[in-house]
Amino acid sequence: MVESNWSNILQIKNLKKYFGGVKAVDSCDFEVEKGKITALIGPNGAGKSTVFNLVLGLINPDSGKVVFNGKNITGLKPEDISNLGISRLFQQTRLFNNLTVKENLLLAMDNKDVKFWKNLLGGNKVGKDKEKRIEQMLGLVGMEKFKNKISRDLSYGQKRLVELIRAVLKPHIFLMLDEPVAGVNPKLRKSIKGLLLKLKYQGETILLIEHDINFAFSVSDEVIVMHQGKILAKGTPTQIKNNPKVLEAYLGEQFSAGSS
Ligand code: ADP
Ligand code: MG
Repeated sequence: MVESNWSNILQIKNLKKYFGGVKAVDSCDFEVEKGKITALIGPNGAGKSTVFNLVLGLINPDSGKVVFNGKNITGLKPEDISNLGISRLFQQTRLFNNLTVKENLLLAMDNKDVKFWKNLLGGNKVGKDKEKRIEQMLGLVGMEKFKNKISRDLSYGQKRLVELIRAVLKPHIFLMLDEPVAGVNPKLRKSIKGLLLKLKYQGETILLIEHDINFAFSVSDEVIVMHQGKILAKGTPTQIKNNPKVLEAYLGEQFSAGSS
């Protein structure tokens, strides 16, 4: 069934997910507008990754609804949701360490193609256009010389960049990124920021899940703040910067035990 409001690619409606006594996501409502970077921010344990997993169908909500591109996707299988056009970057890296950068990227471009493995194993030539696209994307972040490197030899930040490129190369209409710059050095952070801004200018729609407030403010058009499973505030970066409740939520983090 088609649900309205076409300017929004994603609508979260009264979404709820408890883990035992932990209210990870508690009656959340928000929208992601097409062609914008929306940042979902909040202190550790706020529920950001749980929202990510709920949207992707990796876990099912206790109640509420996820509408993607006008379609109710609540309860669909992760693969079916992904095939509707969502590409994502997980909080933990998921590269194939024993493959080269190029091979990892090719996997994203045609992971349904059975011939792919034959080509890879047989060393056949891959399509020139695919190779060009890979070179172009690596070039955008200054990583063209890493094309034939084995992924395990990359630094953590370089792996994140390759994963990000992989998410972009996978055919999609919506990108969801869970903490792309966490643990990444300042130089590569800049590359990631530059890439995100370029993607936005190309008209991409991105939901950026981010702990780092300053990074989120520097790239996003809209900010949604989560705290203890609830939506604490929504607005532009400037509005959110000046919201004392947001600072308070982050300050509280320093005193909470076990946050990483
Ligand atoms: P964030 O991504 O904002 O740091 P999470 O969504 O990972 O937060 O976690 C929100 C809360 O839900 C935390 O208290 C976390 O410990 C808890 N939580 C997340 N996933 C699970 C799970 N699978 N089982 C139990 N508790 C979980
Ligand atoms: Mg998280």
